Amino acid sequence: MRIILIGPPGCGKGTQAKLLCKRMKLEHIGTGDLLREAIRNETSVGRRAKPFVETGNLVPDELVNDLVSERFQREDRPKNFVLDGYPRTLMQAKSLDAVLSGCHLPLSSVVLLDVCDTEIIKRVTGRWSCPKLGCKATYHSLSNPSKVQGICDDCKTALVQREDDHVETVKSRLTVYHKDTVPLIPYYNDNGLLKKIHGTGDIEQIYQALVTALSV
Ligand code: AMP
Repeated sequence: MRIILIGPPGCGKGTQAKLLCKRMKLEHIGTGDLLREAIRNETSVGRRAKPFVETGNLVPDELVNDLVSERFQREDRPKNFVLDGYPRTLMQAKSLDAVLSGCHLPLSSVVLLDVCDTEIIKRVTGRWSCPKLGCKATYHSLSNPSKVQGICDDCKTALVQREDDHVETVKSRLTVYHKDTVPLIPYYNDNGLLKKIHGTGDIEQIYQALVTALSV
């Protein structure tokens, strides 16, 4: 199965992608994670991406297209995967079409996780995560708080908030989403791949809606 998850920042794409991958044995390709890792490792991609990621802007298409297409050029390219956070522009969607058709790996479905802007702002600004490599537990100050405020339940490391999860940055990421990513909805609807589910409620309920959407 080859799936794209799209939706506004903080709609739960990452959480649902990880669940799908674990339960259905798919490979998770999250461009946000790849870019944050490149920034942490101070690679040349990371240095170029950093100012865009930290201000909530999209990294230039060529950079992120290269990152994804390199993954598909390798011998061990993923055959079954969930793309989370990519594509985010029409240019990226067209580049992905070319990459996948070159590898004879057609997409199965594109699922839109629909969440309104007000809910997104509430969710994203309460998001905290453990920065320790190998832990990476995530929390939410309202829906899933850590037992001791600001401390990871699992490894006791001080929790951090992503640079791009501050309220003003979230608002600007939403503006970018509406301008650049929403045009993907008619694009994938026209080629018959788009499925839409509500991204609000319990994580398991959303997961079940996602699985149902994928099987119809
Ligand atoms: P995410 O974790 O998916 O919310 O991504 C975090 C940030 O990484 C975004 O706000 C962008 O700055 C950058 N990013 C991730 N994926 C892409 C993409 N497909 N195109 C451009 N920028 C991206």
